[in-house]
Amino acid sequence: MPDEDPKARVLRRQLLWQGLVGAGVLAAGPTLFRSVLAAPPSAGAVDLGPARLIAAVPAPPVVTRSQWGADERLRRGSPDFAPIRQVIVHHTVTATQEPDPAARVRAIHAFHVQGNGWSDIGYNFLVDQAGRIYEGRAGGAGPPGEDGAGRGVVGAHAEGHNAGSVGVAILGTFTEDGVTPSDAALDAVAAVAAWKLGTRDIDPVAPGALIGHRDVVSTGCPGAGCQRRLPELRDRARARIAGASSQPEDGGLIEEVLEAVGGLLG
Ligand SMILES: [Zn+2]
Repeated sequence: MPDEDPKARVLRRQLLWQGLVGAGVLAAGPTLFRSVLAAPPSAGAVDLGPARLIAAVPAPPVVTRSQWGADERLRRGSPDFAPIRQVIVHHTVTATQEPDPAARVRAIHAFHVQGNGWSDIGYNFLVDQAGRIYEGRAGGAGPPGEDGAGRGVVGAHAEGHNAGSVGVAILGTFTEDGVTPSDAALDAVAAVAAWKLGTRDIDPVAPGALIGHRDVVSTGCPGAGCQRRLPELRDRARARIAGASSQPEDGGLIEEVLEAVGGLLG
């Protein structure tokens, strides 16, 4: 339906979803949905929740732990997981123009474990000024930072607010109002936020959805120069979700689900 009003389209999807639940089709089995979606098989056979149908925001490219050279011997214990509800932005208070960002990520990892005594690196993701995204705390069987059920790994980045939050640290120091993250870095944070929030149907501009560390803890982090760009960051994340939601493949996917359900119900 290319000419459909976007609002009507969203409403139609919501009705579709409610209808599927009501018809007991979802209880009939995720196997149907996986076959309909024709998605590449994922390890751990993740159930497809409603959010994945509402806004299928693709994961951005992530520099994995093995790619940045994480020393996995540093990890201790087993990680905790919780449903994701917000993104919290940090700065690392290190060099803003970092000559070797991966080396910095390794140093932060070592400091968090050996200096702070934590079980793993505290942040869930880190981004550099060139816009590269680094996987932070190790997750489970799901996409980076998640277990097989789509819950987020609980990091150590905002005391009292770690469970349910995705801590994204921008490499650099933005304490001064005039020193802000690069556009590429902001885009990278927006990509992480759109991916983690959009797939769970959380609007980045909703209160508390995408905030700075200082919004929940008494701290200067992520610095005045970063904090003042958060409204723009929320808009960028929201635009990414809107863009992903309007992809033709997504509309086709909904139609395919409808067809498959129609066939199933006879
Ligand atoms: Zn912070």
